[in-house]
Amino acid sequence: MNEADSLKLSAGLSKFGLQQVATDENADLVVINTCAVRQHAEERAFGQLGNLTKRKKDGHNFKLAVMGCMVSNNNKDLQKRFPMVDVWAKPQEFDPIIELMIEESDISSGEFWPETFGTPKGITAFVPIIHGCNKICTYCIVPLRRGREISREPLEILHEVKHLAKAGVKEVTLVGQTVEAYGKDLDTIQTDLADIFEEIETIDGINRVRFLTSYPVDMTKKIIDAVSNCKKVCEHFLIPVQSGSESMLKKMRRGYSILEFKKRVNYIREVMPTAAISTDIIVGFPGETTKEFEDTIALIEEYKFDKIHIAAYSPRPGTYAYRKLEDDIPLEIKKERLQILEAIQKKISIEKNTKLIDSTFKVLVEKEESGKCTGRTSSNQLVHFNGENILGDIVDVHIHEVSPWSLKGIIANSNEIAII
Ligand code: SF4
Repeated sequence: MNEADSLKLSAGLSKFGLQQVATDENADLVVINTCAVRQHAEERAFGQLGNLTKRKKDGHNFKLAVMGCMVSNNNKDLQKRFPMVDVWAKPQEFDPIIELMIEESDISSGEFWPETFGTPKGITAFVPIIHGCNKICTYCIVPLRRGREISREPLEILHEVKHLAKAGVKEVTLVGQTVEAYGKDLDTIQTDLADIFEEIETIDGINRVRFLTSYPVDMTKKIIDAVSNCKKVCEHFLIPVQSGSESMLKKMRRGYSILEFKKRVNYIREVMPTAAISTDIIVGFPGETTKEFEDTIALIEEYKFDKIHIAAYSPRPGTYAYRKLEDDIPLEIKKERLQILEAIQKKISIEKNTKLIDSTFKVLVEKEESGKCTGRTSSNQLVHFNGENILGDIVDVHIHEVSPWSLKGIIANSNEIAII
């Protein structure tokens, strides 16, 4: 979401003649686009702000803007801590940053945003389709910072995807905090994610469509069936479960039961047996007992996800959990649980990937440097192989080597010999 926002801001600024520069050393404007979901991300932003503040104090003349999740309606504390920041802009609030650099008289109507789509340099791009979140997970700062769910008009999304296709993008990832909630808030139009998939199917130049992040309750049978039926939509799901324990899910106020989560995953595997399913897990949530943690282990061992993003719980100021639930799991236990899950997942990934040796996959070439190529399969597996002048193509790659995190192969029917 932040990458897409940065691109959009960059496109807006370049409309007024500003150019992106390689480093911030000689920039007239430095924008820090922040994430506040985890403490670590916030600390990194603070570190960068500290360095830039020092540079300003040393006499360097540039404007400094902070945008994104770290910015809220009340930034008094941040303003006090970083008085050298010229503008604080909430997520998708681009105008104050534009106005910082451009004479107000040069801005015609403020209506330039809808058609100002960023053009990424690569062949993949993120397209936000819904902003904000209506859920109330007790640990999460996102609804407080990004507001309630607001879907973009379908025509605007399709216009943007066509623009990206013309610029050479081959794969778009439709993003939203809860992407399947798309369309629910649109009063005048009846549409959903499945409809958007079907529309993008008809756009020439776009060969692949991905989507994230899924929220189990919003995943309808219609959407899952559309993933299965639309040729361009990749059979890859990121469905955060967060915990395998019923009581933990209640404490997190995730809004679904383990059974409801399992039903979705079972249905996906029924209609798309080879679909890749990834998930997110939080360990060390307040009060997590050994038994509750073991429930998570049991879920992972039963469902054998393709990938798991594991995070140790860190309290975020402003959330319900921060105010009401004591962060009572010691850091060393959190770390230990995190390592246990990582080890289990590593074993699962090795087992799964080993079965892929000698298979051939269609890979979209996303990077090519001196004959070394990197791309991804439809199921989001990273693949390394040799090739020349094939950037943006979809090629058949025969796999001969695997690790828990990626695959290695050679282009099928090439003269190259795999050295194993
Ligand atoms: S679904 Fe929950 S965790 Fe995800 S963005 Fe919304 S509130 Fe946060």
